[in-house]
Amino acid sequence: MSFQNAYLNSVMDDLRARYAHEPEYLQAVEEFLEPLSPVIDSDPRYEQQNIVGRMAEPERLICFPVSWVDDQGKTRLNHGFRVQHSSALGPYKGGLRFHPSVNQSVMKFLAFEQTFKDCLTTLPMGGGKGGSDFDPKGKSDGEVMRFCQAFMNELYRHIGENTDVPAGDIGVGCREIGYLFGRYKKLKNQWTGAITGKSLASGGSLTRTEATGFGLCYFGAAYLADHGQSFQGKKVIISGSGNVATYANQKCTEMGATVVAMSDSNGYVVDENGIDFRIIQQIKEQKRERISTYPNYVPTAKYVEGCAGIWSVPCDIAMPCATQNEIDTDSAKLLVSNGCKAVFEGSNMPCTPEAIQAIKASGLLYSPSKASNAGGVAVSGLEMSQNSERLYWTFEAVDAKLKEIMENIYRQCADTAAKYGQEGDIQAGANIVSFLKVADAMLWQGVY
Ligand code: NDP
Repeated sequence: MSFQNAYLNSVMDDLRARYAHEPEYLQAVEEFLEPLSPVIDSDPRYEQQNIVGRMAEPERLICFPVSWVDDQGKTRLNHGFRVQHSSALGPYKGGLRFHPSVNQSVMKFLAFEQTFKDCLTTLPMGGGKGGSDFDPKGKSDGEVMRFCQAFMNELYRHIGENTDVPAGDIGVGCREIGYLFGRYKKLKNQWTGAITGKSLASGGSLTRTEATGFGLCYFGAAYLADHGQSFQGKKVIISGSGNVATYANQKCTEMGATVVAMSDSNGYVVDENGIDFRIIQQIKEQKRERISTYPNYVPTAKYVEGCAGIWSVPCDIAMPCATQNEIDTDSAKLLVSNGCKAVFEGSNMPCTPEAIQAIKASGLLYSPSKASNAGGVAVSGLEMSQNSERLYWTFEAVDAKLKEIMENIYRQCADTAAKYGQEGDIQAGANIVSFLKVADAMLWQGVY
C-alpha cells in the first residue's frame, strides 16, 4: 500500500525495512496511516517534528525471561513482554495476554492500537500492552499462580498507578489478575490501583467484566440507530466464547437479537433458537471446558469442528470477538454473499486488510476494533478513578457511563469522518480523531 502523502510513505518504508519480521505490527500501522494524508497535508509541523515516525514506535520495549516450576517439579521457561507505547495522554494502559502466539510483533501491534483506542475514550490514558507465550490452558491453578508470580517478579518494577497500569486480555481473566495483583502488592508493600480488572472485593469495578462486550453492543446500537436500524430481530454470529464474546452475547440478546453461532479455537456451535450466554459462561468460566460440550447442555445446538467455518453461518450482523486476522477475504466474501449487513469488531484487528476492503466495498456497516471494543479500557479507566477516590460506584452508574462513552466514541468517529470528506467511514474517523489528539499532545510536549 502507498499513501498520497510522501512523508507517510517515507515513515512506512522505514518501518517496513526495520521491522520486516513483525507483520502484525506493520499491518496495524499501515491500517492507521491509510486515511491520514489530508490531515498531514494540513499542518507542516507533523512532518517537521516527525510526529508520525515518533508516534509509530513504542517509547519502551521490555522483554524478559519467565522461569517457573510445573507440578512435576520441572523448571519451565517462557518469554515476557511489556510494550510501553505512548505516554502522551496519560500513564501507559493496556492488557496482558497469555497465549502461545504472543511474540514481539503481536505485542507491538496491540500496544500501538491501544494508544489510539484509549485516546478515543477521552479518559487520560496512554497506551501499552504486555503478555507472554505462556498457555494457561491445561495448567493447574497452582501452575498458573506460580507463572503469574514469576511474571510479576520482573514486571512490578516497570508498572504503577501513575506509570503503567496493566489489565487482562486473552488468557488473563479474573484468576490470573488475582495472582498478579497479589504478588505486585507483596513486592511493593503498597495497595494501589496499579492493575485493573481486579475482583470487586479487592478494589475492582462493577461492570468491568461485562464492559468490552456490553460496550461493543452500545457502539453497534448507536451505529445502527444512525442508519435507522437496531439489534431487534437481527441474527448475530459472535466468534470466540471468552470474556468479550460472552458479554456481547448477553447485551445484544437483551437488545432483541438472536445469537445463532459462537466458537472457540477448535470449532463452533450453531443454534437458530439462540446461544445461551449463561451456559457459555458456565462451560468456559466455571468448568473450563471446550465449546464442543455445549450440545450436551442444549440438544438443539449442533457442534461443527473448525473455528473458521463460523463465518459461513448466515447472519445480519457479525461480531468477531476471538483474535487478530480471524476474518480473511474468503470469510468476508462469505459473510457478504450470505446477506450480512454489518461487521462490528470486538477482538483486536480481527479482519485482514483485504477483508476490510471487501466488507466496505460491499456497503456493509463496519466498525474498527479501536473504536468498538474500547469499552473494556474505558471501564478500567473508571476503575482507576474509583481506586484513587477510595470509592465504589454502582453497577448502574458504571454501565450508564460506559454507554455514554461508547455513544460518544461513535459520534466522534462519524463527525470526524464527515469533516474530512469521508462521510460514513467510521474506520477513517476513528484513525483521524485519535491521531489528532495524540499528535496535539506530542506537539505541545515538545521533543521528549
Ligand atoms: P478470552 O481469553 O476470554 O477469550 C478468547 C476467545 O477467543 C476464546 O474463545 C478463544 O478460544 C478464542 N481464541 C483465542 N485465540 C484464538 C485463535 N488463535 N484462533 C481462534 N480462536 C481463538 O479473551 P478476551 O475475550 O478477553 O479477548 C478476545 C479479544 O478481544 C482479543 O482480541 C482481545 O485483545 C480483545 N479485547 C479484550 C478486551 C477485554 O476486556 N478482555 C478489551 C478489548 C479487546 P480458546 O479457548 O479455544 O483459546
